[in-house]
Amino acid sequence: MKHKSPIGKHAIVIGASIGGLLAARVLADRYERVTILERDAFPQTPQPRRGVPQGQHPHGLLSAGYRVLQRFFANIDADLRSAGALFLDVTSDGGWFQNGGYLRPAPSDLHGVSLSRPALEAVVRMRVLRLGNVRAETGVSVLSPVMDGAHCVIGVTLNRGSGDEYLSADLVVDASGRGSRSSAWLERNGFAPPTVSEIGVNMAYATRHYRRAEGDLGGRTLLIVAPHAPLQARGAVALAQEGESWAVTLIGMHGDHPPIIEAGFLEFARRLPTTDLFELIAHAEPISEIVPYKYPASLRRHYEKLRAFPTGYLVLGDALCSFNPIFGQGMTVASLEAVALGECLAEGTQRLWQRFFRSAARVVDTAWTLAATADFAFAETVGRRGPEVRPLNAYIGWLLCAAWRDPVLTVAFHRVANLTQPPASLFAPQIVWRVMRGATRRSSPALHLAHTAPSAGD
Ligand SMILES: Cc1cc2nc3c(=O)[nH]c(=O)nc-3n(C[C@H](O)[C@H](O)[C@H](O)COP(=O)(O)OP(=O)(O)OC[C@H]3O[C@@H](n4cnc5c(N)ncnc54)[C@H](O)[C@@H]3O)c2cc1C
Repeated sequence: MKHKSPIGKHAIVIGASIGGLLAARVLADRYERVTILERDAFPQTPQPRRGVPQGQHPHGLLSAGYRVLQRFFANIDADLRSAGALFLDVTSDGGWFQNGGYLRPAPSDLHGVSLSRPALEAVVRMRVLRLGNVRAETGVSVLSPVMDGAHCVIGVTLNRGSGDEYLSADLVVDASGRGSRSSAWLERNGFAPPTVSEIGVNMAYATRHYRRAEGDLGGRTLLIVAPHAPLQARGAVALAQEGESWAVTLIGMHGDHPPIIEAGFLEFARRLPTTDLFELIAHAEPISEIVPYKYPASLRRHYEKLRAFPTGYLVLGDALCSFNPIFGQGMTVASLEAVALGECLAEGTQRLWQRFFRSAARVVDTAWTLAATADFAFAETVGRRGPEVRPLNAYIGWLLCAAWRDPVLTVAFHRVANLTQPPASLFAPQIVWRVMRGATRRSSPALHLAHTAPSAGD
């Protein structure tokens, strides 16, 4: 591995999930050696593992995240293809049922990749570990960072199964996920812990895998039925995956949780506002059990607001912010944080934690605001609502209804949802004009995928 310009000898990353792997990718450019410490063993073939229980549920990678992977790993598409990935145009190969109707599909610059979360992680891990100066140690529990007398982190204590040990490093990155213990460790060591924002959504997933047949969903590889406040707290996802399978998830917010027994699962699907997903699973062969996942609240730790923090230590990925998974943001935000880390390291290590947490907060802000605005459309959502929530949701509601027939709006909306354009782009004059025009033209939405005609433009 050729270093851009080494700024340190050894960096440690805690956790070898997507966040940790992408952090290691950028650290490898700047440190002579990078060690990833992971509690789990890596599975021989892609399959869910204990430390990433969400891996049993479909994971969409937003276009912005996919672009980062392409930038970090030359020719990664070949590896993804070998792993069985399907490649899609998000707005024309996916069916998006939003606000009571299908958005009008249209080709776009929003490319996506469809494969299971364990398979995606396996590809990223293979590419990271192919870098000559990165290695991963599995079966290692990191217990705590270790500080010297000058509030500088100089390594970690860990357990390989036979007593506690110490491993030294110039930089330690905590990518241990939502359950990160960095806050508690800071407090124990006399630092103020970060303040926390929470958005209570009381949500549950129930996922089952089915065999996929040619022609399912009219050839689409993705179907999303979004919850629609205030009355429809239910949603669903069907994502085509490797091995000719569908991962189908039923979603219920605010306690309207999908059952995990077959009859109830089917009935829940039947009552979605489009019958497309029910028709798919009523006829497809199930190839797994129904697996539940409860997600009580989005959780953001505001490290960017701290005034004091140890040097030589950073926090990234879900450990920094865990998002309502409906919006598919977690892996993409982790990848954008890794980009931010690379940019910060290019400027050296001076005031690294302030610079990194500030840059990461900018990335998180956009995704958090998008998700929070939609979540707060439900009166039951718990958290601090800003005054902008109601007018923003009203405008987005008009936009989505206008997008039932206006493909330009479909693409504009998805560019923002895929984090490739800022939310402000939805208020550009030509977009506002189309939204207003749509609001004045009454139209009935398409309720079935078969009635959605792709369009090249308006
Ligand atoms: C139900 C669900 C669905 C989701 N769907 C999507 C989606 O569609 N799209 C999307 O982008 N994101 C989705 N996410 C979020 C996504 O899973 C995470 O954002 C992503 O995994 C990145 O997280 P991470 O790497 O920071 O942490 P995690 O994935 O939580 O991984 C943490 C890692 O650290 C290891 N670890 C923890 N503690 C220690 C320790 N002390 N010592 C050593 N190792 C340790 C764990 O074993 C694990 O490997 C979803 C999340 C959930 C819950």
